[in-house]
Amino acid sequence: MDPKSKRLSPDTVPSRLLKKYYKSGPRYTSYPTAPQFKSEFDREAVLAEWRKTNLPQGKGLSLYIHIPFCGKRCLYCGCYTETGHKKDTVKNYLEALQIEVDRTLGVIDPKRSLEQLALGGGTPTFLQPEFMAELVNGLKKSFNFSSAAERSLEIDPRSVNNDYLDALIELGFNRFSFGVQDLDPNVQKNVGRVQPEEKIVALLEHLRKRGQNAINIDLIYGLPGQTLESYAVTIDKVIKIRPSRVALFGYAHVPWVSPHQQALEQYSIPTPEERMALFGLAYNKFLDRGYAHVGMDHFALPDDELIKALKSRTLTRNFMGYTTRRGLDLIGIGASSISSVGATYAQNVKDVAKYLEQAGTDTWVKALILTSEDLLRRELILDLFCNFYLDLSALEQKFGIGFAEHFAPELEKLKEMQQDGLIEIAPDHLRVTDLGRFFIRNICMTFDQYLEADSQARYSKTL
Ligand code: SF4
Repeated sequence: MDPKSKRLSPDTVPSRLLKKYYKSGPRYTSYPTAPQFKSEFDREAVLAEWRKTNLPQGKGLSLYIHIPFCGKRCLYCGCYTETGHKKDTVKNYLEALQIEVDRTLGVIDPKRSLEQLALGGGTPTFLQPEFMAELVNGLKKSFNFSSAAERSLEIDPRSVNNDYLDALIELGFNRFSFGVQDLDPNVQKNVGRVQPEEKIVALLEHLRKRGQNAINIDLIYGLPGQTLESYAVTIDKVIKIRPSRVALFGYAHVPWVSPHQQALEQYSIPTPEERMALFGLAYNKFLDRGYAHVGMDHFALPDDELIKALKSRTLTRNFMGYTTRRGLDLIGIGASSISSVGATYAQNVKDVAKYLEQAGTDTWVKALILTSEDLLRRELILDLFCNFYLDLSALEQKFGIGFAEHFAPELEKLKEMQQDGLIEIAPDHLRVTDLGRFFIRNICMTFDQYLEADSQARYSKTL
């Protein structure tokens, strides 16, 4: 992959296309998407599907633990989290997590290899170091961790110091994901998340001194107050820090889902054209300095696992975004977490108080068993989102279909995108063009069987 071959120039994305494709639509961290999960479902049938995944030789596992606590709400936040909780609730929550783990391992064979652990939130480092140790040591006793397992967590730089990082290394964490968003003091003030750059730099330097180089930085473009000048400064500083991976997310303004975001409407929120210019600026700078573009919104240095996954076509996408090690069954533990095991999705209750009440019995509030048509479309959307390429004969063989007949209406709809230069349609493959990568959500929406029946208004904008 030659990064320079994918260089954007300001006129690469014509504003005619931005206007045309500026719609609401899913980010496809699952297919079918979460609004399709049913609150009326057959729990025993879902559990039976889970048991099936243990045999004949269960796939590896990916474990996600949700910590739904934060000190203060950032105004752009779209995650499920609660503020104002004290030590007692946190302690009770950790006990409830272990109870849910025990229940889960009554269904999923505990001997299955755990290949990936991710702690997200909320703020996992809201936990005091001794609580973090209790949680992780409990997980180590319960699951069969592979020696090569990736163990990652999200870190709010405001909530840790060097001692806490040392404790995380001792517990076995080997990938550290820092929520940075923007380094500009004015933007930080607008979004209610003030975190000095010097502190972030010092924390990363400490990790490096300890031999830890798998460091992610999350950034957001499209926040109120961002200008091309200010964002250029932020990106230059981030490049100087040299994380191995950067996630560059577009701000999703969905105040009907997250009402606290209304507070940002007092500032001017960047338009689609301004958003694309911010993204293009960051894109060019990252590619100039040796990062490769991965998927829709990630950048990585050549030795990062994400690049290896891209090359070996094992890049995947789940509720945390792009990740490595495709094909694992994902178990979500904790309030609001979602599991994706075999042909099922199951979502936990969001509210912490309810989660604590229900942990011993049943925390699922929504679930879905996928049909064979869902499984086919899930694979197709995953391939397009991760590889920007679809091998039609491989899909035909795997699912026993003829692509052209099965997807005749979709192919008809795609013709317009083909004319707009977003996708190449050939007898044996579909290929998303460099321009089409910026419209990948729109392209995948063509294959979403539920979208027309669903209200698109609930989703964020696709660009
Ligand atoms: S720290 Fe993260 S999860 Fe918590 S409010 Fe801020 S963005 Fe949301």
